[in-house]
Amino acid sequence: MTRESLARTVARDRRPPPAPPSAASRYVNQWTEDEALGGERVRAFVLILKTRGCYWADVKGCSMCGYAKDTLGRSATPTELSEQLARALDRYREEPYVKVYTSGSFLDDREVDPESRLALVRSFSGRARRLLFETLPEFASETALDPLRASFRGELEVALGLETTDPTVLARYVHKSASPGEYLDAADRVRAAGLRAKAYLLLKPPYLTEREAVEDVVRSVGEAAGHFDALSVNPVHIQNGTVVEWLYHRGRYRPPWLWSVVEALRRGAERRGAARLVSFPTAGGLARGPHNCGECDARVLAAIQEASLRQEFGSLADLDCSCRSVWEAKGRLEPLGVEA
Ligand code: SF4
Ligand SMILES: [Zn+2]
Repeated sequence: MTRESLARTVARDRRPPPAPPSAASRYVNQWTEDEALGGERVRAFVLILKTRGCYWADVKGCSMCGYAKDTLGRSATPTELSEQLARALDRYREEPYVKVYTSGSFLDDREVDPESRLALVRSFSGRARRLLFETLPEFASETALDPLRASFRGELEVALGLETTDPTVLARYVHKSASPGEYLDAADRVRAAGLRAKAYLLLKPPYLTEREAVEDVVRSVGEAAGHFDALSVNPVHIQNGTVVEWLYHRGRYRPPWLWSVVEALRRGAERRGAARLVSFPTAGGLARGPHNCGECDARVLAAIQEASLRQEFGSLADLDCSCRSVWEAKGRLEPLGVEA
């Protein structure tokens, strides 16, 4: 099977059938987590809204993204979205940082209509100091951004899944629809409109060796830093119904080592300019997430989180474990020599 047809087959299989109204009035998930605002540690309120999901996931989808399973299979109505918001607000405890995701793009009208967007932003206005939402670059227009900016007392932050600044890696391995240049242009528009821009950088797309993956992130940090206020390194974890999972089950993909995250942060820190550089790995230490030998995972994850919150990366150089030499050797061998 070619990569192209594999991607389309996986995309077709993962989209759920249209959901009944009862399912559409409940958001996907909500939790709180540690974050930082400037130098201050704060709690962040994270909300995943249930929407029709990312249009690109229907067309082809990205090789590591399984978010389509958390979608409605149709657009949510404004009433359904307001019910989801009301349920979320019941759980909101004035956390200073709020992050709203949709398993797609908050600014795509098919996912969240403009009035519902405004209602959500107004609900947190004057309460959260910063509100983050994510979008594909094509929806980050002045028309979409300006009313939100005018309706929120505080900072708005727009997250863009740039993943890499290498056009070949982005198109052929990650399977994104837009080019790196389109993401950088969108970040420039976001900042020109008075909002903050944050990039997600993907550590270890499929078909890269461990070493190539680290180099890809380090170079991307340097090339993207001037366009963004923050860069978040997101190591791949295996999501259900994805190309990456298909490869993983056939022994052709290992999630990145935590040593790779450490290396990407240490070297990326020197190229980040004025941008914040962070990493909060999902599923860290688990078989389907970024992991080391099992003995040192908790310690290395804690150091990664601490470095990200404090923006001090020097102490990462002191980390060690016997598995580090294994990681160095594997970096030369993958993706052919993959182990559990
Ligand atoms: S990673 Fe983003 S653009 Fe790609 S399919 Fe998932 S939600 Fe869509
Ligand atoms: Zn170890």
